Amino acid sequence: MNPDVVVSPELARSMTELSREMGRQLGLLMDRRGNVEAVIVGDAKGIEIAEMGRYRVGRIRFRGLRVVHTHLDASPLNQDDLTDLALLRFDLMVAIQALDNGLPGTASVAHLRPGAFEGEPWVVEGPQSVHQLTSMDFQQFIESLEQEFAAEARTRAVDHGTRRAVLIGVSADSVRQAHDSMEELAALADSAGIEVLDRVMQRRQRVDARTLVGPGKLKEIFIRCLQLDADMLIFDRELSGSQVRAIAEMTDLEVIDRTQMILDIFARRAHSREGKIQVELAQLKYSLPRLVLKDDFLSRITGGIGLKGPGETKMEVLRRRVRDRITALEKEIKSLAKGRDERRKSRQRAGLPVVSIVGYTNAGKSTLFNKLTDSNVFVENRLFATLDPTTRRVRFPEEREVVMADTVGFMQDLPEDLVAAFRATLEELREATLLLHVVDISNPDRENQMAAVNEILSDLAIDAVPQLVVFNKCDLVSPEEVEEVRERFGGIMISALQHETLPGLIEVITRTLWEGSVGARLPAASTAE
Ligand code: GDP
Ligand code: MG
Repeated sequence: MNPDVVVSPELARSMTELSREMGRQLGLLMDRRGNVEAVIVGDAKGIEIAEMGRYRVGRIRFRGLRVVHTHLDASPLNQDDLTDLALLRFDLMVAIQALDNGLPGTASVAHLRPGAFEGEPWVVEGPQSVHQLTSMDFQQFIESLEQEFAAEARTRAVDHGTRRAVLIGVSADSVRQAHDSMEELAALADSAGIEVLDRVMQRRQRVDARTLVGPGKLKEIFIRCLQLDADMLIFDRELSGSQVRAIAEMTDLEVIDRTQMILDIFARRAHSREGKIQVELAQLKYSLPRLVLKDDFLSRITGGIGLKGPGETKMEVLRRRVRDRITALEKEIKSLAKGRDERRKSRQRAGLPVVSIVGYTNAGKSTLFNKLTDSNVFVENRLFATLDPTTRRVRFPEEREVVMADTVGFMQDLPEDLVAAFRATLEELREATLLLHVVDISNPDRENQMAAVNEILSDLAIDAVPQLVVFNKCDLVSPEEVEEVRERFGGIMISALQHETLPGLIEVITRTLWEGSVGARLPAASTAE
């Protein structure tokens, strides 16, 4: 066919004629050079487009194929037609009505819509006359549509510094458990600097082996991601390598699971040499069974040097290299002169007292950290230098300075492989002068959480560091409950969202550091200057 038109009048006419004769829908898949790639014979109600391997071939790219098909009645493009358009990223989805006499009636045309938007990811035009359709300049149309998509992608790259995700929970747990777990996942995403756009929960006893949620649900999720302009899916459970691959290939979205996200967070937070090695070890061990061969990567590692032994596959080479690295790192950990790093860092911090915020994920640690270190909140607080995103020097009343540190949160069911890495990130708490143990007072599980935190601290012998218990989110419970908890546990009652509750905390910290038992152990330099 002439590549300049969507469909020629002659072809449209033969299609409707044949279609009417058979009493079935008839469809053509056409490429941009006007070749017919496939002919699809449907039934009276629809055509089925064969599985094409993946839903879309890229953010801005199109599949380079369009679908022209017939409808036996005057019905416009239906939901299935439009879903196929979006999932398979066709150039166009066209439906031509086959009249009773076999001639073409009206036509509807749909194409993908560029841009971030709420609503449908497609635009439907028509019904229009077939003449309008057959006289449309296809080349010009597809060119300008692609340009729009490309321009939009450039804007988006500038706009979004952050990754945008949809969270997916699949479990047979109670609604309550599943909800809590998703809350925690959202808090983790926040720590990882990922924006959460939506959450999808699915309850099922047995997960789908390939896609976890099942192909139907995955389609729905994918459309949702298109609408929200999300770039990634985060699953609230562990995925196998083949599951990650299957879902990523079908959707062209980045796919990660809970473990991988936790690893990302640890990687951002590990400062000491040992912490960094532990995190890398955990990452390598996690990736080993999930290694995928990517062509570019492969040619990079094998390029030029040739493969080692005969019969050694590329995959084996890759695995061996990862294992070698693991062995090397494990050796290095053993030989690390313990404490050297820590001492050096303490010197860098010029002997200032270090106040570290610990507690469960979602307790409000980062919110409190930001409030306490935000120069706008307390007039006397000036932000001095950002040592790293989670450590800041803060000026307290009377020209005193402290270093505040936010830490990785504790979490439920920390995957076994991550325990060592997690502990390594906590090692740094040894150099803390004071711990602020933040507890979410509104969490029904708060007592177990407190106990779990204390247990690990004492395991790591960090419990020698003085601790202030801070009950946060007091705005969420009744004043009576706040009183009750205060009487039982002592502790400081705050709401990180209510400024007026914070000066009290500052006062207790100041007193503890400079007048209490802690003060006696502070280096003289910190108060003298
Ligand atoms: P982290 O995981 O301990 O660092 O917790 P975040 O600081 O990220 O806070 C987790 C969630 O709790 C966020 O949605 C905060 O907005 C919210 N939050 C923190 N402090 C308070 C508080 O005092 N009151 C209320 N209602 N919400 C809070
Ligand atoms: Mg946090």
